[in-house]
Amino acid sequence: MAVRKFKAEVNQLLRLIIHSLYSHKEIFLRELVSNASDAIDKLRYLAASDEAYKGVSFEPRVEIGFDAEKKTLYVEDNGIGMDEEDLDANLGTIARSGTKRFLEALSGDARKESNLIGQFGVGFYASYMVASKVEVLSRKAATDKAFRWTSDGESGYSIEAAERAGHGTTVTLHLNDEGAEFLSRWRLEELVKRYSNHVAFPIFLRYEQPEYDDKGKKKGSEEKVEQVNSAAALWRRPKSELAEQDYKDFYKNFADTDEEPLFWIHTKAEGTIEYTTLFYVPSKAPFDLYRADYKPGVKLYVKRVFITDDEKELLPTWLRFVRGVIDSEDLPLNVSREILQQNRVMTNIRSASVKKVLSELKDLAARDPVLYGKFVEQFNRPLKEGLYSDWSHREELLELVRFKSTAVDGWTSLADYKTRMKDGQKSVFFLAGDEEERLRKSPLLEMYRKEGTEVLICGDEIDEIVVPAIGRFGELELKAVNRADAAKDFEGNKDKEKEKELAPVVERVKKALGDAVKDVRLTGRLAESPSCVVVDEDDPSLRLQLLMKAMGQGSGVESKPILELNGSHALVSGLAGADDARVEDAAKVLLGEALLVEGVPLQDPADFVARINRLLK
Ligand code: ADP
Repeated sequence: MAVRKFKAEVNQLLRLIIHSLYSHKEIFLRELVSNASDAIDKLRYLAASDEAYKGVSFEPRVEIGFDAEKKTLYVEDNGIGMDEEDLDANLGTIARSGTKRFLEALSGDARKESNLIGQFGVGFYASYMVASKVEVLSRKAATDKAFRWTSDGESGYSIEAAERAGHGTTVTLHLNDEGAEFLSRWRLEELVKRYSNHVAFPIFLRYEQPEYDDKGKKKGSEEKVEQVNSAAALWRRPKSELAEQDYKDFYKNFADTDEEPLFWIHTKAEGTIEYTTLFYVPSKAPFDLYRADYKPGVKLYVKRVFITDDEKELLPTWLRFVRGVIDSEDLPLNVSREILQQNRVMTNIRSASVKKVLSELKDLAARDPVLYGKFVEQFNRPLKEGLYSDWSHREELLELVRFKSTAVDGWTSLADYKTRMKDGQKSVFFLAGDEEERLRKSPLLEMYRKEGTEVLICGDEIDEIVVPAIGRFGELELKAVNRADAAKDFEGNKDKEKEKELAPVVERVKKALGDAVKDVRLTGRLAESPSCVVVDEDDPSLRLQLLMKAMGQGSGVESKPILELNGSHALVSGLAGADDARVEDAAKVLLGEALLVEGVPLQDPADFVARINRLLK
């Protein structure tokens, strides 16, 4: 039997690949099981479609077993098998997958390189990370000859005639020290469950169960064969075959939870890129959704073989609440993180998935407002994050986010707001802050309420950043009611005569407050309250400044509020003839109360109280 040489360049390549490509040696098992599953797939297909294989009937199965004494481990399948030619062509040289291309890539720039390595089929060779010798005993279906391929993975390989009972392939690894850990029933079972649980065919594990006598002494052992994978990649089954309960059961198992999912989206894409996705929206937002170390719950599979769940970018961050599966037909098994991020297939799947989720949400909102309401209750905020961070989906997200409002109970959309607008209204008004209840009581809403203009109440932590950034909804401008500009809408409410009359009062109040305020003005926006505070158009809001301060970023962002006074209120108009001491007391009290209702704590509460007491006397 002549020893056949690997092609020269292949020899060096093997080492390189074995030691650099795979970061976890355990994945050799995943690769072997995946090859076995492919071989079964191929035979099933041929048996159904090819005359030469018409007579072949078989019960697909993969078996894994080991011999702890001999330090061997095998993976066996009853798939298509390989004849001498196949063994030579498939395992004898990686050139089959394009060694030349590979070598060219190695001398190319780094990026191209990593891309190509990833697309390079070297699955079988991963065995040499844990084995010093590999034997492949194979018999091709519809033939009666078997062959044994043997190689240490370095010097070359041999192929000899052999015996094998039926068609299929047995890959036997002679484990090295690195591989010794895999001579364990538990370790193998764990790996099959982790990587190959959803492989379509049953995977059996053959092991020795030790038997003990009464005194606990080992008296022998019994051989057992047990199926270890679930072989149920539910997402691969046609929707028409699946009942609601199937989806729910799968979710509970998959997400390891007792809760039912809110809803799910099952998609099979066929065409240039083939993949299946099954996405679930949980009924409750995970408790750690807003923590930096949150782990998104989407798993990537390639042909039912688990690849990773540690990839933050399978879906955009703002969709991190989605759980489920992406299963691609077109990605290589050994796809790495860098490759995933640049891979055209992955980019396509990702963007199609985002579109799909968005369009399903839109449908849901129209079809089942109650269910959509439940969704909003849990996940409005991540959608708003998307609105802020992902401009490519701005239009869709604007339709999906919901707001509280002065006009309706519960949630409302921008589109619904629009239908309720008064004649001639050109803006969507909103008040953003950190607490819905406080916002609802703000004096800034008084005149809107009186005039019957709806204002959106944005009381989520991130609203002060997100909502102003929206800018426009179609031809409508989004307008913050806690800014100086909004007062212009109420100019008409001001009494010109009175304004003239009170001009000196405004000047005196301004003087009394000094640099505590940016300006003091009369306003038409107040109906009942004597005063309110607002900020200038480009200044950060008062609450935001507090927040920044709390985070140690106070300096640099501080800007003063503008105090607005209601000229029709007796507390303001009554100051016309007052002495300086009283004007100062009143000025500081009017500012203090306006700040308090906005949730801004007072610098000097004792001073504030003393002034109130003086005024009350
Ligand atoms: P890949 O699976 O990515 O093509 P591998 O190096 O793992 O690369 O395998 C090379 C080829 O060897 C496979 O494409 C297949 O044709 C053949 N092969 C490997 N394992 C088996 C098997 N168990 N049964 C039949 N053919 C196999």
